[in-house]
Amino acid sequence: MPISFEEARRQILEATIPLSSERVQLLDSVGRALAEDFYAPWDLPRYDNSAMDGFAIRAADAAAETELLITGYIPAGGTELQPVTPGCAVKIMTGAPIPPGCDIVVPVEETEVKDGRVRLLTSLQLREHIRCRGEDIAMGVMVLPAGTVLRPPEINLLASFGQSLVTVFRRPRVAILSTGDELVELGMPFQEGRIINSNAFSLAAAVRDAGGEPLLLGIARDTLESHREKLAQGFSADVLITSAGVSAGDCDLVREVLRELGAEEKFWKIDIKPGRPTAFAIKGGTKIFSLPGNPVSTLITFEVFVRPALRKMQGLTPAIRPVTKLPLAEPVRKRAERTQFQRVRVQAQNGRLVASSAGDQNTGILSTMVRANGMAILPAERDRFEAGDEVEVLFID
Ligand code: AMP
Ligand code: MG
Repeated sequence: MPISFEEARRQILEATIPLSSERVQLLDSVGRALAEDFYAPWDLPRYDNSAMDGFAIRAADAAAETELLITGYIPAGGTELQPVTPGCAVKIMTGAPIPPGCDIVVPVEETEVKDGRVRLLTSLQLREHIRCRGEDIAMGVMVLPAGTVLRPPEINLLASFGQSLVTVFRRPRVAILSTGDELVELGMPFQEGRIINSNAFSLAAAVRDAGGEPLLLGIARDTLESHREKLAQGFSADVLITSAGVSAGDCDLVREVLRELGAEEKFWKIDIKPGRPTAFAIKGGTKIFSLPGNPVSTLITFEVFVRPALRKMQGLTPAIRPVTKLPLAEPVRKRAERTQFQRVRVQAQNGRLVASSAGDQNTGILSTMVRANGMAILPAERDRFEAGDEVEVLFID
């Protein structure tokens, strides 16, 4: 019995947990999820410093029109901190440490400098233009909880706290196996009746895009022997993805051999279109996805089932891409009881986003997939949608 789209994805995510963690170079952590909470090892900023190029002065000398003698200069990175004495000012650059006695920094734009003296044009508040120690982040505070996805701002924060190595979840190793006697490897001479094993490349690309490390196992031929050998190789990976050979054809050996090798089959048919013959199984630490062979169906089932699992393994949230409700540009008729994935182009029309069909929805038409930037998820319950009906759309680019 086929199971529903939602139930299939629920079972997959339920069976999937984050992998172990590893220490990586800071720059290699971008786009990955922190595997442990990160606490600030010191205050940020580490010391009071100037927010402006200007003059360090005392609060008692801060009235407008006051004239002060310039007695020193502290550049950014300066370590000689001449104290600010009454009636005097110390020239200071942005980022330079605040010297003793300084209560306020007057920006140079708000002064007039002449003959070694500075005149204040405005009056200022206490602590103005001073970045105070710990005002951004106080030492000991938990700044990044485990699971935080590291983007450039988080990378800056970790660098500011001296972290040249960070602990992130490991990338899943994903074995990719194509099956079928009709397949030839890319780069081999063309032969009548053969097709190029293009799925290996689209899957490897999709795996990389999802943060995984693809491992190409090549082609299993339509014999028990070849399937046994190739499938067994896949069991050393965290994930094994096969394409083709799970429908009802004579040569569909993937299910049979997986069972024989002791994989526990969770389901093997889903009420979706395209991608009905999609199976999910587990063997030891390996999650196995048997996807249909048709390149369009392979990519769509990867997107909705495998990608979320790969993200969850890396601790990445959300595991599933967020969906947006958008109106359809044209009516759609479909079969009820099946979730249908419609390849769409999301474009602005009169200032509003609308999802129009990306072309012929036949699963043999790869170019429609190429034109699509979104996928409308048409729910199983309904069989008709009119132009303007709002449906959930997932952005795939
Ligand atoms: P199957 O699931 O074996 O019935 O295959 C469905 C369709 O997908 C057939 O037209 C196959 O030729 C095609 N196909 C299967 N495997 C691949 C592959 N690795 N690369 C490209 N197309 C494939
Ligand atoms: Mg086949």
